[in-house]
Amino acid sequence: MSDTRVQRKASQSRQPASDGNTVELENLRRERDRLLAIMENANNGLIVLDTKHIVTRTNQQFRELNGGKDIVGWDFFKYLHHPRVAPYVNLDMEIDRLKQRLESGQHTTLYAEVSHPEPDTEMHRLQMIVSPLSEIEGTGAVINLQDVSALVEKTVEANEMAQKAQRHSRELTELTELAEVSSIYGFRLETIFQRYLSKISGLIDSSLISVYMYQPSTQRLVVRATTTQFNEHEKAVSLGDDNLPGRVFVGKRSQIENAETASAPHAVAVPILFHSKTLGIILVTGRKRAYDNHDLKLMNLIAGRLAVLVENATLYHDVNARRERWEAVFRFTDEGIVIFDNKTKIVGFNPASTNLTKFAANEAIGQQFTKIVKTVTAEGLSLAALSPIKQVLAEGKTITKSEQLLEDRHGGRTWTEISYSPIFDSAGRVTSGIAIVRNIQKDREVEEVKSDFISIVSHELRTPLSAIKGFLSMILQKDFGELNDKQFHYLNRVYQSNQRMIDLVEDLLDVSSIESGKIKLAQNPLALESIITEVVTELASKGFEKQITLKVNRKNRLPLVLADETRLRQILVNLVDNAIKYSFPKSEVVIDFKVQGDELVTGISDTGVGITASQMDRIFQKFGRIYNPMSVQSGGTGLGLYIVKRLVESHGGRIWVSSREGRGSRFSFALPIAKQLPLLE
Ligand code: ADP
Repeated sequence: MSDTRVQRKASQSRQPASDGNTVELENLRRERDRLLAIMENANNGLIVLDTKHIVTRTNQQFRELNGGKDIVGWDFFKYLHHPRVAPYVNLDMEIDRLKQRLESGQHTTLYAEVSHPEPDTEMHRLQMIVSPLSEIEGTGAVINLQDVSALVEKTVEANEMAQKAQRHSRELTELTELAEVSSIYGFRLETIFQRYLSKISGLIDSSLISVYMYQPSTQRLVVRATTTQFNEHEKAVSLGDDNLPGRVFVGKRSQIENAETASAPHAVAVPILFHSKTLGIILVTGRKRAYDNHDLKLMNLIAGRLAVLVENATLYHDVNARRERWEAVFRFTDEGIVIFDNKTKIVGFNPASTNLTKFAANEAIGQQFTKIVKTVTAEGLSLAALSPIKQVLAEGKTITKSEQLLEDRHGGRTWTEISYSPIFDSAGRVTSGIAIVRNIQKDREVEEVKSDFISIVSHELRTPLSAIKGFLSMILQKDFGELNDKQFHYLNRVYQSNQRMIDLVEDLLDVSSIESGKIKLAQNPLALESIITEVVTELASKGFEKQITLKVNRKNRLPLVLADETRLRQILVNLVDNAIKYSFPKSEVVIDFKVQGDELVTGISDTGVGITASQMDRIFQKFGRIYNPMSVQSGGTGLGLYIVKRLVESHGGRIWVSSREGRGSRFSFALPIAKQLPLLE
C-alpha cells in the first residue's frame, strides 16, 4: 500500500512525462526502490505519513523500537495517544503545534517513551524528528526516530553527578566557613556552638541538633547548645548503653539510628574527638529521610573541626586564667620582679621594681639588667661584673637570696635580697631568667637595732663579768686567806656560772658583729695543720678529764687555705670542743683532712651521742640547742655552731654534718685552697 503512495507521489510530480515514457518510469521505479532500500537499511527508525497524518510506511528499525508492532494505516497522533507511548509534552498543544509546523514546512522534534507490549520490559526513549514532505495535495511527513535511552540515561546520570558536585562544593564552602569560625568568633564557645548548629542544620537538612559536652563533675553529658527548646533532646544524659549520646560517647564511634516505623524519628550522633579524648557528642535528629554514610562522613568532619576549636578554646581560657593570675602577682606584689632575656636585656619589669630602682617600666625594658638593677658594695663600687645573671643563663642555676645593696637611679641605696632563676622552654633550654628583688631595708634596720642593742648590753656586761672573774679567781686561789670547804665549793660554782656568762657575752658579741657585717676577715694563706696542733694542745686537758684522746690524722702534706687566723682557730676550737663535750668517756676524737678540688676539707669525728636526723638542720641555727643528757650537763648557748657556720661561709667555705644517734657525729668544713702560693714543706 505504501508503495503505491510513493509511486503516486513520483508519478504525480512527473505528470508531463506521459505514458509512453517508459524510460522515465523505469528510472522513477529504480529511484523508489533505492529509497525503499535506504529506508529499510537506515540506522534510525523511519515513519512516513501522508497528508492526513496516516502512517503509510515504517521501516524495520521502527518496528523493532515499537516492540515488533507495525503501525501502518494508523493515525500518527492516535499512535502518540496510545497507552504504551508516553510523550514528554502536553500532547494536545503539541499536536496543534506539530500540525501548524508541518503546514508551514518546518521541522519539529518530539520526545516520547515507548514501552514494549510485554510487561516488565524496559522503556525506550525516542527522539522523533518530524520533517515535512511536500506533496501536491498537501503535506505529508517523514519521521526519523532514534532510540536515545542510553543518551538520556547518561544525561540523567550527568545531571545527578552535577547536582552531587554542586552539593559537595556547597558542603565544602560551608565546612571552610566553619573552619574560619574561630577567627571570627574568637574563643567564645557559646557563639561557636550556635554557628555550628545552624551550619549542621543546613548541611544535613535536619532541624533538631544538640551539642553535648562531658561534665567531669557529674560524669554526665550536658547540652551546651541546642536548636530545640522543647524536650526532643534531653538536657543531660548519663554515659551508658541506654541512650544514643551515651553510647556514642563511650564507644567513641558515630552511630546512625534510623527508625523502623515511619513516625519515629531518625537520629545520628557523632563523638567530638580530640586525638583519643572524647570531649562530647553532636546529636542530630528531625529529618524525614534516613541518615546515610555521607551524612556520617560530613558529621565526623564537622565534629573534628569542633573538637579542635573546643580544645583551643579550653586551652585559651586556661592560659588566660593563668596569665591573669600571674599578672596580678606581677603587678601587685611588693617584690620587684625583673625578667631578662638570654642576652641579659630586661623584658619584664613590675611596679615594685620601679619603686626599688626608680626606673619606669618603659625606661627599663630593653636595657641591660645590670644598668637598671644596680648592685654596689658598701663603698659604692659597682658589682655589675659579679652579677649572677650570666651564670643563671649559662648554667640554668637558681641562685637564692643573696643580700645586695641596690642603688637606684638617683643614687639612693636599699638593702635587698635577690633571687635569680632561669626560665626553661619545653625542650629544657634556658630562654630567659627572672630576678625577684625583696626590699629588706626595714628588716636590716630592725636587725641592726637589735644587734646594736645586744652589742651594747654585751659590752656593758663584759667588763663587770671580767672583773668578777678576776676577783673570784683570786679568792679561789686563797689570795685573801683560807676558805672552808663549803665556801670553796660554792664560790667555785659562782666562778663557773660567771664563766658561762662571759662565754655567752662573747658569743653574742660575735653574732652581732657577724650579722651587722662589721666583722672584717684578714684572709691569708695559712697552714691549717699548725693551727690544729695548737688547738689540740689547748683542749687536751679538757679531753683528759673525760679520758678522751684527740688524734690528728694527716697523711700527706696539706695545701694552704685562705683564711683569717683568729677566726679559723675559733672554728676549730668550737668543733673540737663540741666533739669532746658530746663524746662518751674513754673514746677518741679524730681530726682528718682531704683535698677536694679547690678545697681542703677538715673533718672532726667523735663516737658520742650523735644527732637525730630531724634535728640535724636545727643545730646550725641561732640558739639551736638540742636537749639531751649531755647537752644539759655540759651547758652552752646554742650559738657556737651558728657562729661557726657564718664564719666558714664568710670565708667562702661550706660546713655540713653527718651523724647517727648514739653512734657519733662527723662535722666537716671546706675552705678554699690558697692556690697561687707554693705548698709548705
Ligand atoms: P652548744 O653551746 O649548745 O654546744 P652549739 O651551737 O655548739 O651549741 O651546738 C648546738 C647543738 O648541737 C648542741 O646543743 C648539741 O646538742 C649539738 N651538737 C653540737 N656538736 C655536737 C656533737 N659533736 N655531737 C652531738 N651533738 C652535737
